[in-house]
Amino acid sequence: MKAAVLKGIENLDYCDFPAPVPGKNDMVIKIRACSVCGTDVKTYRHGHRFIRYPRILGHELAGEVAETGSGVKSFSAGDRVQVAAAIPCGKCFSCVKNIETMCENLQVVSCHYHGGFAEYMLVPEFFISSGCVNKIPENLSWEEAALAEPLACVINGLERSSFREGESILIIGSGPMGCFHSQMSVQMGAEKVFICDTDVERLRTAGFTKASAYINPCTENAEQVIRESNSGRLADHVMVVSGSAAPGIRPLELVAPRGTVNLFGGYKEDQLEGSPEMIQHGERRLVGSYGSSPGHNRQALSALSLGKINGKDYISRRFPLSGIMEAIYSTEKRQGLKNMILF
Ligand SMILES: [Zn+2]
Ligand SMILES: [Zn+2]
Repeated sequence: MKAAVLKGIENLDYCDFPAPVPGKNDMVIKIRACSVCGTDVKTYRHGHRFIRYPRILGHELAGEVAETGSGVKSFSAGDRVQVAAAIPCGKCFSCVKNIETMCENLQVVSCHYHGGFAEYMLVPEFFISSGCVNKIPENLSWEEAALAEPLACVINGLERSSFREGESILIIGSGPMGCFHSQMSVQMGAEKVFICDTDVERLRTAGFTKASAYINPCTENAEQVIRESNSGRLADHVMVVSGSAAPGIRPLELVAPRGTVNLFGGYKEDQLEGSPEMIQHGERRLVGSYGSSPGHNRQALSALSLGKINGKDYISRRFPLSGIMEAIYSTEKRQGLKNMILF
């Protein structure tokens, strides 16, 4: 089969690769769509703490069951499926406590197992038994279903922040994950949604999410803008999707007392300076979020299927697998929202 194989840092080869063969309780899916994630770019440039080479990247994927082992009863050839990216063991302390994102034996698609930048992908037995393979609702296209994985991470993030109806949120970073956060919090009944980014083009692109205000911290005072349209208060939540979207901004200084700052994506060290006092004196919380659980993936598919999020709004460019490098460079340059590899 054809695959985009990462053979080492900055060594991605579009080449022939042995097609997977399912064992008795495994299956093989034919990949139909796989979107490019910032993590794919990072892994291409710098590697990943879990990765073993050679590895096929791509973890935001949807495909069609091509072949099942004789022991697979819950799926059959032709089924349209979405596969979660982080596979919990179901047995460790965290899994038993239902904290699957913190599974001690977490297996990650595109790090421990081959991912979706290939014609076919192996779906081992424990992906199925852990509930990581979801049937795609009929009204969703392949590419819309592929967006369930990144959206699932956003659902986890809002859950980790304990975001509630009627609250306000500042989202730092207006790329696809920032836009998902904006739309999901609107869907969850946010009182006010603010998006902040120094990239004016990106900020403009995020306009479709219907946030209350779009803030460019280079030309505007974020605190002032938030207070002015939020009855004088700061935001109840700050979601740091991309710290580099707002250099110099300290999230804990923009969150209201008893509010929550969530380190969802990359942040800059200096953005957390002065944190202990802000946390203690303002009873603020600093939390993190990491990936998503199988349940979050199901919730995301449902949100897409119900039209709470229109996946089509997120797809900027489509590429064949042979165009993988162009898709990665385009993602790295932050052009548009999601770049999709279609098969
Ligand atoms: Zn991703
Ligand atoms: Zn576990």
